[in-house]
Amino acid sequence: MRRSIRARHVLAYTSDGVGRHVMLTDAEVVVADARIVAVGPRGAEPADEVIELGDVVLMPGLIDLDALTDIDHTILDSWQSPELGLGLQWSREYATHRRRAVFDAEERAFIREYGFVQLLLHGVTTAMPIASEVHSDWAETYEDAVAMAGAARRLGLRVYLGPAYRSGVNVVDDDGTRSIYWNDDLGRHGFDGAARFLDWAAAQDTDLIHGTLLPCRIETLSADLLHRTSALAADTGALVRLHALQGLHERAFVLERFGVPPLTVLRQTGLLGPNLLIPHGIYLDSHPHVDADTDDDLGILAASGASIVHCPLTSARHGAALDSFGRYRAAGVRICLGTDSFPPDLVRGIDMGVTLAKVLASRLDAATYGDYVTAATLGGAEALHRPDLGRIAVGATADLVAFRLDDPRDGVLDDPIRTLCMNSTGRSADFAMVAGRITLRDGAVPGIDLVAMTRRAQSLFDRMREAYSERDFLRRPGAELFPASFPAG
Ligand SMILES: [Zn+2]
Repeated sequence: MRRSIRARHVLAYTSDGVGRHVMLTDAEVVVADARIVAVGPRGAEPADEVIELGDVVLMPGLIDLDALTDIDHTILDSWQSPELGLGLQWSREYATHRRRAVFDAEERAFIREYGFVQLLLHGVTTAMPIASEVHSDWAETYEDAVAMAGAARRLGLRVYLGPAYRSGVNVVDDDGTRSIYWNDDLGRHGFDGAARFLDWAAAQDTDLIHGTLLPCRIETLSADLLHRTSALAADTGALVRLHALQGLHERAFVLERFGVPPLTVLRQTGLLGPNLLIPHGIYLDSHPHVDADTDDDLGILAASGASIVHCPLTSARHGAALDSFGRYRAAGVRICLGTDSFPPDLVRGIDMGVTLAKVLASRLDAATYGDYVTAATLGGAEALHRPDLGRIAVGATADLVAFRLDDPRDGVLDDPIRTLCMNSTGRSADFAMVAGRITLRDGAVPGIDLVAMTRRAQSLFDRMREAYSERDFLRRPGAELFPASFPAG
């Protein structure tokens, strides 16, 4: 069946020159099965079905490579004083003697599915999931990843996934200092589950499921686990996503253990290359807060072909910013985008990214909305080695999203991308398609009871919030760890 999807604005792709997006007006995208078969003026091609979207911008589906797969935790952990913030980590005593999973396997599967639905509602069509491990008894299991794959298949979301694994966890000692609690057996067990999942995923005959290695954070991986990850990736060709260059504690821990900074560890273990994705990639040797005499990291990163997964909204909420988007781009570093935490709204993320780039550079042209939309589409496709994604072009996979531009609260319309990013949010996603299957229609995910889902998510969130106290090294109650914005009157 040929479907013609028509819209006032269509962000199409031209391979002329370097290859880039161009904006068409009053245009259609014709889809047959999973592919785009025609792009051009409205009504130019024969079709069996016409979907008229009206006053929207129809663009490539968004690619989120550090994709929220949680209820929410940023609303709890992004605003405390350093003293209170320590209470949100595991205490060493908890890690050693009292570790427990706050949610059982079925609840974890629900939470992941809830995250996937949120991604679809915000126009994401390809996701590499990330969930907080703080509520788990260690990290994720093979079974968790299989359950997530099932949810992705049901919903029609394309995922690059695997169980998160680690051999250490950031903890707080009795005296309030931070360190890492190590457990190599759990690290090996997690890695074995990840390897097993790669085999399982390879046997799934669908473009929706792609096995990927997702070790947690560089400072929580033993040298052994880093080497095993690198060897398995080389063996299988799997992509690896590893959080690194995201904080000063991380840098200090890695320097202490390896004698060299995180980027050098990535290089020495053979991980640094085109198959590596690095959220958040902020603390390079050139960053003003990093104590280093060198200024090589940006060049090394660019030459490696690794991709930075830039998560502007989450980073900003934790007090950090890429310094700077323009400098990374000019150096030739590959940049894709991620949401990382709630809300999984790349439109807001893009606006935050552009705004912070301006602040950092004191220039209004430091980064453009076009640059950021390119990172969210073509940048993601490049990181995944998927030249068929992130673009509306004949022969490309039919991953599309349409954002409404006719909400009176958006005000008047100018350039559709600037109007969307500056005056609207990802909540204006109205229609989406993944590999030709409709995943969002009239702003809703087909077959999902959002009211029931939200009710259950709230009850799980309440339990999750409670559980912070048992992990705090001072065992402070929730009221003390999470004071309200205003005291109760
Ligand atoms: Zn992250």
